[in-house]
Amino acid sequence: MARYTDAVCKLCRREGIKLFLKGDRCHTTKCAIDKRGYAPGQHGQRRVRRSDYGLQLREKQKMKRIYGVLEGQFRRYFQMATQQRGITGENLVRLLEQRLDNVVHRLGFAASRAAARLLTRHGHIQVNGQKVDIPSALVRVGDVVQVRPASRELTAIRQALESAKKRPTPAWLEVDPGGLKGTIRSLPTREDAGLPVEEHLIVALYSK
Ligand code: SF4
Repeated sequence: MARYTDAVCKLCRREGIKLFLKGDRCHTTKCAIDKRGYAPGQHGQRRVRRSDYGLQLREKQKMKRIYGVLEGQFRRYFQMATQQRGITGENLVRLLEQRLDNVVHRLGFAASRAAARLLTRHGHIQVNGQKVDIPSALVRVGDVVQVRPASRELTAIRQALESAKKRPTPAWLEVDPGGLKGTIRSLPTREDAGLPVEEHLIVALYSK
């Protein structure tokens, strides 16, 4: 399976904002955006005037990078979003939020979406009592997502739970930190996602 393997802090620097791809490190003075808040590469410090296309492209890249999704899969989410009722941009955000790796991270069981992806792939996550090792699986209302009993003492999970205390759990999720489980109360809204992305620009880009 294709995946991005270069330094992830470069992705934040390219977008010019913190995308919080590295868990706790993002909240420390080691964050690359705080140290070198300009684009990577030889010409990174040049001023750039962006065209409409350039703006749309950057919003799309930002959203892909936040959720750790590559181009082909992102396009498939967009297709699904266009086939659903409602506003396509909001459907797209909702679909990405419904990914199992995002839910594991939002529930506080992993410090970042990348860490949540790893936990899921390694079989530490159950949905409705069954092991699910597909990070892109979409959760539904009423699903119960939990850490497998045998994995509860993993240091990575314990540390993630500790740092998750500092951030609020979204209203669409109900978390039981002691039981290492969470329930999907409702589908996420655009506001729940709280993303620094203008999704209508992505819709404009793909609608050309
Ligand atoms: Fe982005 Fe986190 Fe790296 Fe900072 S530390 S640049 S927020 S991934």
